[in-house]
Amino acid sequence: GSAEVVILGAGPAGLMLGNLLLRSGIDCVVLERASREHVQQRARAGFLAPHTAALLARHGLDEGLRKRGQEHSVCEFRTEDGRFRLDYRLLGKGEPHTVYPQHELVTDLVGLFLGAGGRIHFDTEVLDVTGVEGPRPSVTVRDADGRSAHWRARYVAACDGRHGAGRRALPPGAVRRRHRDHGVSWLGLLAEAPPSLDAVGYATHPRGFAGHMARSPEVTRYYLQCTRGTEVDDWSEERVWDELDLRMRAEEFGPLRRGRIIQRAVVDFESDVLEPLRHGALFLVGDAASLISPSAAKGANLAVLEADILARALADDLLHGDAEGLDRYSERCLEHIWRAQEFSHWMIQLLHRVPGPDGSTSPFQEGLRRARLKALRSSRTQQDWFAENYVGV
Ligand code: FAD
Repeated sequence: GSAEVVILGAGPAGLMLGNLLLRSGIDCVVLERASREHVQQRARAGFLAPHTAALLARHGLDEGLRKRGQEHSVCEFRTEDGRFRLDYRLLGKGEPHTVYPQHELVTDLVGLFLGAGGRIHFDTEVLDVTGVEGPRPSVTVRDADGRSAHWRARYVAACDGRHGAGRRALPPGAVRRRHRDHGVSWLGLLAEAPPSLDAVGYATHPRGFAGHMARSPEVTRYYLQCTRGTEVDDWSEERVWDELDLRMRAEEFGPLRRGRIIQRAVVDFESDVLEPLRHGALFLVGDAASLISPSAAKGANLAVLEADILARALADDLLHGDAEGLDRYSERCLEHIWRAQEFSHWMIQLLHRVPGPDGSTSPFQEGLRRARLKALRSSRTQQDWFAENYVGV
């Protein structure tokens, strides 16, 4: 087949880009390795930035979000030095998050894209991208029946994540990868239990971080910092709840509502940024462009922001012959990406016992962390800065 723009991956980046291109009348196709059911059920992010919600609204893509999204704006910190709350709608630029599960956003965007006549090929794995230095790149896929096929494109948008074919297609030396392993890991849990706080809970504790995030009236997300190498099933349900009680200081601040753990995953905190985000006719978007550790909930929001920047640049080029936006795509996105990386890094340092190479945490590092939390608790200037960065992209 052929299309002006071939999009690899049907995550938030690829689907947003597809919908925006379709609305500009640009011919595109989305190629996705997984099945439609799989992408529509994959539970991941939940916190959408005001910029993301506004962008969806501007393009009429926000019906689900308006109906089922929940406004959210309070963080509760439980620390060695007591508890405090910040309502970030009253701080910084005065903006809240919208809590809306990523898989619901993905489901909406798939439905809207198909409804508007868009083409998605599910169960279609991209194997290779070639010829991106020339005028007519080629994308090789294996379809659901195991047959291989080729797609011809003017441009290829790699929205297929950090392990995707887009990154693999970059010739050695074409793009530099800045990488950091933060040494921190989370056991991420989904519990069939109503939320126990009316806020996002961030607990710092000598045993490590614990987090609480409402997902719906019936389901709550919890996170427990764990040592590197922990396996998903190492911790029994009882141990999970006991550890959450301890770190969230349930005795002092009230019990947690327990329930069945319905999903678990271990996340190692790693970040990387590719520079530049373009090689010839190939553009990197979302997690393919930069992986960001989940501590500040930026990944999906960045993916949507970059998709918008790329959609406008592609429209300028393909409809009006103006290539400036494409030339500036990388630089524009990297500015947002590095700011998000910086804030995410700050959050990691704020909330975790960050182990050194030998696995232990230095008392000096711990002293800095407590001072940082105290500054956030007591300084309005710090709080405004936090609020602006926490909801910003
Ligand atoms: P993905 O969503 O990863 O989509 C890539 C798609 O490409 C996938 O569908 C994949 O199947 C497909 N694909 C891969 N390889 C191929 C191939 N070879 N051929 C064809 N298709 C392929 N972000 C936030 O903003 N807020 C949050 O609250 C938040 N919480 C998170 C919590 C957790 C536990 C995790 C793991 C992440 C969280 N994130 C959060 C990050 C967010 O989920 C990602 O940044 C986001 O999904 C990136 O979107 P994407 O479209 O770039 O990539």
